[in-house]
Amino acid sequence: MKNLFLSDFSTYRIGGVAKVAIPKSIFELKKIIKYAKKNKLKTYIFGVGSNTLFPDDPSPDYIFISLKNLIKINNKRGKLFLSAGVPSALLAVIGLLTDSEELFFTHLLPGSIGGGIFMNARCYNNEFCNILDKIYYLDENNKVNFIEQKNCSFAYKSSIFQHHKWIILGATFNLKNRLKLADKVKLLLFLKSQDISDLMNFYNHFCIKNIKNFFNIKKIPEILYLIEKDRASKHHFDYPSCGSVFKNNYDFGVPTGKIVDELGLKGLTKGGAKVSDFHGNFIINFDKATQNDIIYLIERIQEGIKNKYGFVPEPEVRIIK
Ligand SMILES: Cc1cc2nc3c(=O)[nH]c(=O)nc-3n(C[C@H](O)[C@H](O)[C@H](O)COP(=O)(O)OP(=O)(O)OC[C@H]3O[C@@H](n4cnc5c(N)ncnc54)[C@H](O)[C@@H]3O)c2cc1C
Repeated sequence: MKNLFLSDFSTYRIGGVAKVAIPKSIFELKKIIKYAKKNKLKTYIFGVGSNTLFPDDPSPDYIFISLKNLIKINNKRGKLFLSAGVPSALLAVIGLLTDSEELFFTHLLPGSIGGGIFMNARCYNNEFCNILDKIYYLDENNKVNFIEQKNCSFAYKSSIFQHHKWIILGATFNLKNRLKLADKVKLLLFLKSQDISDLMNFYNHFCIKNIKNFFNIKKIPEILYLIEKDRASKHHFDYPSCGSVFKNNYDFGVPTGKIVDELGLKGLTKGGAKVSDFHGNFIINFDKATQNDIIYLIERIQEGIKNKYGFVPEPEVRIIK
């Protein structure tokens, strides 16, 4: 455990110095949890920080535990097992190597497997819950346990893990074909020393051009090009952000980004933060924004939507005070 800037652990690049632990194994993770309990410290478990807004002045009573170094890829009784720290976007690469097109939706999806399961991340007409088999977690008593996908109460951007103090360790996935041992070794090499909390770095590493070269893949399915084009056209990787700040309100029926656009709030600025000109649901950090800058814009959008349409949009981003 070290005192480190949380900004280096978040795609928002926001967050002051805090106690940070980055366990490489379940054994190390359990030790940190025991240490925190013994010293009456609270813990915040996270992955890559692509859906988290950290405080500028973090509480000394917390240990921030990133599972981004919990990297394991295995075949477990005929199923693919990925540990919590594996980048979600690697699923699309595994899809290419195993002819499993149901994994392609994760192409260039920021974040980790742990975060993806916790949030039931979704995009391009698919969501995490559709590809999962069993989820392994550390329970309240620091014991490894597992739960079947069907018992995880998955729904739009929600899961059972949002209602328990469980730490997701990894999961098995339903794949049509088995991952070959040689490909597993290549995948692990591909992940070596990558800082994917830096969105530009993430894009450069997981873009089609680099995947094609690294894995020597001749033909890439069209859908991956479409996804890459779509994310690039919305400038997802040009500035630090957390992706969409708000959930959509399906009862209302119009995506939050479109409502923000209709209200003329695109481009609204506070300090170093700005409502993206390209996507109404993105608030970007264009110049050393603080947590308060982002929260200010969140509140202005909530106020605007409440006044005009009578409901307050629920933030998707996890705001840590
Ligand atoms: C440019 C951009 C585009 C994005 N596009 C999409 C999109 O298309 N669709 C989408 O759904 N999301 C999108 N996101 C949001 C984000 O990528 C996902 O929510 C992602 O799954 C979060 O993973 P993470 O590891 O970064 O989570 P973190 O931000 O690290 O954590 C998010 C939450 O999950 C919890 N958590 C994380 N890991 C664990 C674990 N192992 N055990 C228990 N709890 C855990 C944390 O406590 C926190 O509450 C985007 C983000 C960015 C920056």
